[in-house]
Amino acid sequence: MSADAILVCPKCLKNTVEQLSTAIKDLEDSYANIPIKEYNQKKDKVESLIDKVANPDKNLLEYYEISINTRGNFFVSYGCRCEVCNFQFSFTHLQNVLPEDK
Ligand SMILES: [Zn+2]
Repeated sequence: MSADAILVCPKCLKNTVEQLSTAIKDLEDSYANIPIKEYNQKKDKVESLIDKVANPDKNLLEYYEISINTRGNFFVSYGCRCEVCNFQFSFTHLQNVLPEDK
């Protein structure tokens, strides 16, 4: 069995959460210290990042294969790569799972 999927990238989501945290602090620090137009732009940025955290883009291409053959060799291969931040991870495992003859 093999499959491909497109998921939310954990690294991109972490980056967005950090951007949101910075933007909130920037908004709080600038309250009453900057023109209202500039404050509203910062507020719009916070709201945009809140939306992005709540509905993150799916940029992580995931592919995996899992099988067992007639000789009892179990095989699993997993890989993923983000198109935006280049985060990637891979894992492969091969093991004979037949009990030994006694
Ligand atoms: Zn990413």
